[in-house]
Amino acid sequence: MFKVSKEYSVYSMNANNIPALRVPAKSQIEFETFDCFENQICSEHDEFGGLDFSRVNPATGPVYIEGAEPGDILSVTIDKIEVAEKGVSVASDNMGVIADLLDGYTIKVISIENDMAIFSDKIQIPINKMIGVIGVAPRDGEDIATGVPDYHGGNMDCKEITEARVLYLPVNVPGALLSVGDIHAVMADGEICGCGLEISGKVTLTVDVVKNKEHIKNPMLFSDTHIMTIASHVDLDIAVQMAVADMAKYLICEYNFDPKEVAILMSMAADVRICQVVDPKKTIRVEFPRHLCK
Ligand code: CA
Ligand code: ZN
Repeated sequence: MFKVSKEYSVYSMNANNIPALRVPAKSQIEFETFDCFENQICSEHDEFGGLDFSRVNPATGPVYIEGAEPGDILSVTIDKIEVAEKGVSVASDNMGVIADLLDGYTIKVISIENDMAIFSDKIQIPINKMIGVIGVAPRDGEDIATGVPDYHGGNMDCKEITEARVLYLPVNVPGALLSVGDIHAVMADGEICGCGLEISGKVTLTVDVVKNKEHIKNPMLFSDTHIMTIASHVDLDIAVQMAVADMAKYLICEYNFDPKEVAILMSMAADVRICQVVDPKKTIRVEFPRHLCK
């Protein structure tokens, strides 16, 4: 297995990032990752304003995958997510959906015991380990900060990007240049305060190159039970339209559905869900049951 340590990290995704590693297709790779604050928060008494915000959202990588060319799909199977013993979450009056109800900031350090996040003496939350930032380089000439989600993946903060999922990322530059970071031990759809339970850890994944899927222009995700499209835009309504249109196009291209039939079928069976509403672009996913793909 290949390994990339967290010291090889980037703060933006672009074609010029120097690869930390070159691997053949079908390789398994372990990415060691910082939390989204680059592990700068050590205690609840740390000063949030004292963080170096130029070091927020590091992503480990990039990894060059041999044979991946623009127009291909990079298929990423998430084999395993391991998290540290404790993570951190922050609510602040300058971020999140209810920022104007808050005064100053609160840092919470939360430990994990027996797969439960110990929120307080009374409240424990089952963990749902997931990857916040995973993406490839955007088109040549573009530079997208690791805090931003878009057509290349990035900070999608989608809780379905977890173990036993296959993520499709459209390749924009030779080698794809895959980077991974920002693991959450627990996060709910929306990520309303701007943080999940931010935690360092390790992600083990297997990459492969899929040819002849030029109709896929944005990230997609596959589980045993569902096909998912993922789209990001500053306007949540437009993100919904994009993810729905991508799913319709996928079903038409892959399963020969008639466009009018597919609209009715999706209205009955495709769930439109929010990934997050707190990043520079908001992210929507549409989930369609696989057993209806006939
Ligand atoms: Ca994030
Ligand atoms: Zn995060």
